[in-house]
Amino acid sequence: MATALKLRFYGDPCLRKIAFKVASVGPAERILIRELMRAMYEFEGSGLAASQVGINEQIFVADAGEGPFAVINPEFIKKSSDETVMEEGCLSLPGIRINVKRPSFVRIRYLDEDGHKVERDLTGLLAKIFQHEADHLFGRMVIDYASKDEREKFQEKLARLEEISRVGIKVA
Ligand SMILES: [Zn+2]
Repeated sequence: MATALKLRFYGDPCLRKIAFKVASVGPAERILIRELMRAMYEFEGSGLAASQVGINEQIFVADAGEGPFAVINPEFIKKSSDETVMEEGCLSLPGIRINVKRPSFVRIRYLDEDGHKVERDLTGLLAKIFQHEADHLFGRMVIDYASKDEREKFQEKLARLEEISRVGIKVA
């Protein structure tokens, strides 16, 4: 069965909202998490934030190739001063890839889908995905990190996505 969630694209105001903290993790949150995971695989992404499907809650799912996990109310406890650049794509910015410089190491805290507090140290791809998805919950997107040249290169695509978001049609 195809997901019932509708992916939002650049230009959609819900991608610029600051998501609310989840007060308690219950059955509704677990249903949403399952749907987000299903949609993430259907859209072939390595992460999907609730904001990307128009739900203004601090929840995202991710899979860096080691199986899916859910993150609720993420917090950064530590970020390394050492930063690395990685080319990042985003389901809400199809056809666009941006070189994003981020801390290579982060210590993070969040609630898992059972409501348990988790603390983890992340490096490599997982650290990047986590920061990318957490950005979504605070209204930030990879395009915000783009250089002037990158922005110019993708100007037409961005304008098209804004138009799609404005009229509300679905791209295949
Ligand atoms: Zn994204």
